[in-house]
Amino acid sequence: MTIQLEAPTPRRGRPPRHLADLGADERRAAVAELGLPSYRADQLSRHYFGRLTADPQDMTDLPGEMRAGLTSSLFPPLLTSARELSCDDGATHKTVWRLFDGALVESVLMRYPGRTTICVSSQAGCGMACPFCATGQAGLTRNMSTAEIVDQVVRGARAAGDGVLGDGPRRLGNVVFMGMGEPLANYNAVIGAVRRLTDPMPAGLGLSQRHVTVSTVGLVPAIERMIDEKLQVTLAVSLHAPDDELRDTLVPINTRWKVAEVLDAAWRYAESTARRVSIEYALIRDINDQADRAHALGKLLQGRLTHVNVIPLNPTPGSVWTASDPKIERQFVRILRDYGVSTTVRDTRGREIDAACGQLAAVARSGG
Ligand code: SAH
Repeated sequence: MTIQLEAPTPRRGRPPRHLADLGADERRAAVAELGLPSYRADQLSRHYFGRLTADPQDMTDLPGEMRAGLTSSLFPPLLTSARELSCDDGATHKTVWRLFDGALVESVLMRYPGRTTICVSSQAGCGMACPFCATGQAGLTRNMSTAEIVDQVVRGARAAGDGVLGDGPRRLGNVVFMGMGEPLANYNAVIGAVRRLTDPMPAGLGLSQRHVTVSTVGLVPAIERMIDEKLQVTLAVSLHAPDDELRDTLVPINTRWKVAEVLDAAWRYAESTARRVSIEYALIRDINDQADRAHALGKLLQGRLTHVNVIPLNPTPGSVWTASDPKIERQFVRILRDYGVSTTVRDTRGREIDAACGQLAAVARSGG
C-alpha cells in the first residue's frame, strides 16, 4: 500500500458550486450574478445556516421567480443519504452519503449527556494507508469540497434538531474531523469548512472554534500553515507509537515526518493557540501497548499542553490485530498519568454499525 499525499486527478470533475463553498463577499457576488440585490445573500445564508434548509420551497420570504433557479445556482444537492443506521440506544447515528459522482462517505452523530457531536469526512477514502484503519485500506478516491464537508454538519444539525438521536440535547455543538480522510491532505477545503462552520450567522453556522477538532496523521507543513490561520480549533495528532520504528509501520507517513518533528509542530500549535493538543493512541494488543512504550510516551509528553485519548482498537474486517487486554489498557493509562499526562479512554461508540473510529469504509463495502 503506498501513501497518496495528493488526490488523484478527478475522474468526473468537481462537485457543483454551493453557497457553502463561498465566503460572504463571494456570496454577494454570486447573488449579483443572478441579478439579485446583495441583501438576498444574507437571506439565503440564514435559510441554510439558520433554518438548516437548502430547499427553495421552504424559503417562502423569497419571490417565486427567484426560488425557481436557486437549486441549480446555489443549492445543488451534494449529499444523498444512501443508508442510515442507529445504535447505542439511539445515541449514535451513522449516515452513508452518496456524493454527486457516486463516491460514498460517512458521517456519525453522537449524543453525550451534555453535548451532541458530529464526526465528519473530509475525503472520499484516504491516502494515508494506516494498516489498522478501514478507510486507509481502500485508498483515496478524491478530496471533498468545502460545501460537501459543511453540508454533512448542516444535515446532521437538522437531523439532531428533528430528534434523530432521541431524548437529550438537540443542538449540534461539536464537530470532529475524524471521519474518512486525512483533513490536512485536503487543506484548503477543510480550512474553508472550519471557517464556514464557525463564522457567525449569517456568514456561517456560528459554532465555537473551540468545539471543532481537526485530527491528523501529522502532516508537518500543514500543521505549520494551520498555526498561521490563528484559529482556536483543537488539533488532534494520531501518534499511535512513541518510537519511529513502530510508527513507520502504523502510520506510514512517519517515514516522511518523524515522531519528534510531528510533536515539535504540535507543541508550536499548542503554544500559539494556548490550547491542549490531543494525542490519539489506538491501543493494539501486543503491538503498541507495552509498558515500556507507555513510559516512552509519558517521557515525550510530560510537561506539555496535551491530553491523550487512548482508543481501544476497533478491529477491521480481516485484521489480525485486536484491542488490548483491559488490564493492559489500565496499566498503560496509569503509567501515562504517573508522568502527569492527562489521559482518558475513548468510548467505542458505533461499533455495531461499523461507525466506530477507523471502521468507516463505505467505498470498500458498497463497491462504489
Ligand atoms: N486521518 C485523520 C482522521 C482519522 S480517524 C487521522 O489519522 O488523524 C480518527 C482517529 O481514529 C485516528 O486517530 C485514527 O488513527 C483512529 N483509528 C483509525 N482506525 C482505527 C481503528 N481501527 N481502531 C481505533 N482507532 C482507529
